[in-house]
Amino acid sequence: MRDSAKALADLVCPPECLFCRRLLSSDRMFCQDCHERLVSSYHHCLRCAAPVPPVVPNADCIKCRKANWRFDRVLALGPYRGRLREAIIRMKQPHETLLRRGIAALMAGKLDSVVMSHAGSQELCQHTVVTSVPNHWTHAMLGAADTAGELAAEIAKRTGFPLMTGMIRRTRNTSKQGMLSWSERTKNVHDAFQIRDPDKLKERHVMLVDDVLTSGATAAEIARRLKKHQVAAVTVLVAARGTGTREANTSLADP
Ligand SMILES: [Zn+2]
Ligand SMILES: [Zn+2]
Repeated sequence: MRDSAKALADLVCPPECLFCRRLLSSDRMFCQDCHERLVSSYHHCLRCAAPVPPVVPNADCIKCRKANWRFDRVLALGPYRGRLREAIIRMKQPHETLLRRGIAALMAGKLDSVVMSHAGSQELCQHTVVTSVPNHWTHAMLGAADTAGELAAEIAKRTGFPLMTGMIRRTRNTSKQGMLSWSERTKNVHDAFQIRDPDKLKERHVMLVDDVLTSGATAAEIARRLKKHQVAAVTVLVAARGTGTREANTSLADP
């Protein structure tokens, strides 16, 4: 019955790639070409996910040496460029719900392959909660999509980890970070977040979801606040890792 209903639905509205709209013959969300470009196996720093030249050892990168990250690791589908960048810019539009779900599905897949293969991940997974980098309340007033919130909800649904919404509150609007230097960004986000019900987070592993990590200042500040409340570990899960200043200067890139 379900199969025939699906066949009928496919006849009326055949499955198509969520990015390029190419018709699909199987039950996938993206065509092969888009999938390969959205999830790349780029050479990256294992701590902050920044792309590094293949000659640089994985455990060390310039960004990590300069920054005082409070998070434990960053997982990203790929660098913020090419088709992934286009998809992220598009998915911020309020009506692109399906594209947000598709990208979240890819992020959940990344999580499976990376965290599950990590030593000690079994124990960590038992204590994992999923949450997102919050927007300032004025963001919703403008009719903008809560991209990070929707990604987190879909990732929680797909992985089975509990979703904790409203756990982090942004008390100041810090969205205009594009033109600031690293130290200015750090100052700009300092004490811009509050943690609600911190007792519920003690000894937990927090999976902090966002669309793009550019300078890392926002995620580092949230991680600092979380760890003040005895959070055991913070993994930042993003669709893309920003690579430099070009994309940071667009108003669409998050801090
Ligand atoms: Zn496609
Ligand atoms: Zn790094």
